[in-house]
Amino acid sequence: AASTANTAVSTSAAQTAQSSAPAVLRLDNIRKSFGSTQVLKGISFEVRQHEVVALLGPSGSGKSTLMKCVNLLERVDDGQIWLGDTDITDPRADQDKLRARIGVVFQQFNLFPHMSVIKNVTLAARKVHHWSKDRAEARALELLDRIGMRAKAGAYPDQLSGGQQQRVAIARALMTDPELLLLDEITSALDPMLVGEVLTMVAELKSQGTTILMATHEMSFAHDAADRVVLLRGGVIAENGTPREVMDESQNPETKEFFSHFR
Ligand code: ADP
Ligand code: MG
Repeated sequence: AASTANTAVSTSAAQTAQSSAPAVLRLDNIRKSFGSTQVLKGISFEVRQHEVVALLGPSGSGKSTLMKCVNLLERVDDGQIWLGDTDITDPRADQDKLRARIGVVFQQFNLFPHMSVIKNVTLAARKVHHWSKDRAEARALELLDRIGMRAKAGAYPDQLSGGQQQRVAIARALMTDPELLLLDEITSALDPMLVGEVLTMVAELKSQGTTILMATHEMSFAHDAADRVVLLRGGVIAENGTPREVMDESQNPETKEFFSHFR
């Protein structure tokens, strides 16, 4: 209902409404090292409800590490990550329950090649979240239908294009109706011809009010579709603002140099 209200008012009013929306994700001074390499050196930012936040930065700047900390695939060394009111860095947190609240799609190898589309989409819901077969399949078919892929439910991943595979992976990530969708360079391994259909799906999710944190090198998409961009550099946040503030108007020489590579 809130997102419907937002589209009905002017852009500036929508932004005001958005900036007062509750934080779905809050990172508070996150630190993470691998051996003696400090990758994240105190990262703090928020993703608010219905926001699309683009996480930008050069290769090796720690985007995937940050995503993995949010998805509990890596432990932070210091700091807190809040999903709503839950501190997910608390070792007593129920990891499976938390994973049902966060959907994740990676750059590649998202689908199991020996399983049909419907098996892939229902697997975690069945095995991790203990849904019944009927419930999982009904939800999966509804999601596949929504992306025009219901006819492919029985197909195997190698019978799909890379773009279709990533769309199925997104559908799978939405199975449990997560509060937050993490997308880590989901178009980077795709043939350029197939990038558009995946980004279109992300734009559709945004219009439906899905809250998304996405690492990407698709700068024009980030510019046009993100509510905010966060730029990582040297283990810290170099910029955090609207696409226009960060990508068009920043006077920081290193920021300008970074974006000049994408023009
Ligand atoms: P990005 O996604 O922005 O390209 P990553 O988070 O993948 O950056 O990597 C950030 C840095 O952390 C890189 O220097 C990378 O080599 C290092 N790194 C990432 N994962 C590991 C790991 N499991 N062990 C050691 N170093 C790692
Ligand atoms: Mg990465």
